[in-house]
Order: sequence, then C-alpha cells, then structure tokens
Amino acid sequence: MSFTPAELLRHVSGKVRERARDLVGEVERRERRERQGDVIRARVQGSRPAPYRVRTDLKKGEVTCSCPDEHNAICKHAAATLLVFMDDPASFVPAAPPRRLPALTGLGEADVERLLDRLHDLHPDVVLDWARELTHQAEEEEWE
Ligand SMILES: [Zn+2]
Repeated sequence: MSFTPAELLRHVSGKVRERARDLVGEVERRERRERQGDVIRARVQGSRPAPYRVRTDLKKGEVTCSCPDEHNAICKHAAATLLVFMDDPASFVPAAPPRRLPALTGLGEADVERLLDRLHDLHPDVVLDWARELTHQAEEEEWE
C-alpha cells in the first residue's frame, strides 16, 4: 500500500469531508465492499436511483467515482469509502467470483418479462443496476 487512506483524505476539503461523514452509514449499509490487492471498491447511494461506484487504487493513489462531481479530485462518496476503510479495513473482502443466473430454460420471453416486471416493482434499484451492468458489458464486448 503506497498511500494510506489518511494520506488520500488529506487532499479532501473540510466541507467534502463533512458531507462524507454523513455518507459513512450508506457505505456500511451496503454488503458489497471489495478489496483486491491495493484496489478497494464500494457502492454508495447518492441522489440517483443506482448507487455510485467508488474505486480506489491505494498503490497509485487513484480515486474514481461514477458520480458527476468534477470539482473535487476526491468526492464525498470516495471520501466516505476511505473513512470506512480506515475504520474497518477487514470489512473490504475479496470479490466473489461472478455468479451466473440459473438457466431460465423453458421460460418464454413473456415469462421472463413478467419476472423482470415483478423484480422491478419489488427492487427497482436492482433492475436499474442490472441494466447498467448489461449495457456496460455490451459496450466492453464491442471493443473485443
Ligand atoms: Zn462520488
């Protein structure tokens, strides 16, 4: 680890840090906090339906977030993630291998659409997140 979270947080203004403290609970509430070597990832619920994705490379000192904040090198979501990591690094665990959905063999398109509609009613954020994931995957595949 070339940069400690505390070192990275030194570049965060007092105002952003204050907002970040309010978001600590949002980071902790999410189950998916990952660590792979020097890279830590978390999702933080912001004002949009799908949570923002924060990625920090502690070796390079690189911090990115999918939120629209372009004014701060380290936004409040990333700062909140760093605060949680400082407090409880063990809660960031290696990413689980990607899970595949069981084959929906035998289901017609209409059945699948009904399932998705139902899922959307119950957990709209899951479906939106899923849709973003699929779109992102398709974009990546286009480059291969
Ligand atoms: Zn952000």
